[in-house]
Amino acid sequence: MVTLTNFQVNDYDLSDDTLHRYLTTPVIAVDTETMGLIPQRDRLCLIQLCDSDGFVTAIRIKLGQTEAPNLKQLMESKKNLKVFHYARFDVAQLLYHFKIQTEPIFCTKIASKLARTYTNSHGLKSLVKELEGIELDKSSQSSDWGDASNLSESQLNYAANDVLYLISIRRKLMTMLKREGRWGLAQNCFDCIPVFADLDIRQYRDIFEH
Ligand code: MN
Repeated sequence: MVTLTNFQVNDYDLSDDTLHRYLTTPVIAVDTETMGLIPQRDRLCLIQLCDSDGFVTAIRIKLGQTEAPNLKQLMESKKNLKVFHYARFDVAQLLYHFKIQTEPIFCTKIASKLARTYTNSHGLKSLVKELEGIELDKSSQSSDWGDASNLSESQLNYAANDVLYLISIRRKLMTMLKREGRWGLAQNCFDCIPVFADLDIRQYRDIFEH
């Protein structure tokens, strides 16, 4: 578990110092915590970032907030790869709430589905267990994130742990994808994620189905 020493909280946006720190690192892990699964109904409460040194920042979002300029600059910076688990959801959240067009993207869930065809377990908990040998505590997953200024120690721990292993998992999944000849396919899938996020916000369902 994270000891919260390499962890900081920023209010309503990345601080200028933190923005510049993340801008100098080529790969950043990102996750969001929300009030629920429907962006039109459910608020965005927390955004977590982590660099390859394990430096975690949680950004607390306030009621009615509609922009985060420093976060937008980082998420739209083509020089910084953003790694998510199930990027489609987080990218839609950032697009809907803050008009952020995230790119470039790596999704560990898509990568896992393409690479780990020997299993149907593609949740973050399963990935962290198999690839990192660590048991992730998901007990705060469905908790009340709505009062961001009063998050509990275990919620902050959970939030930090959700981004802490993504960069390492990405490296391992990349190796598997290249070994299996699926790296190009994976990249093409990642490039489609903003389109899926946009379709989700517009409430289209499965338009690629027959
Ligand atoms: Mn999370």
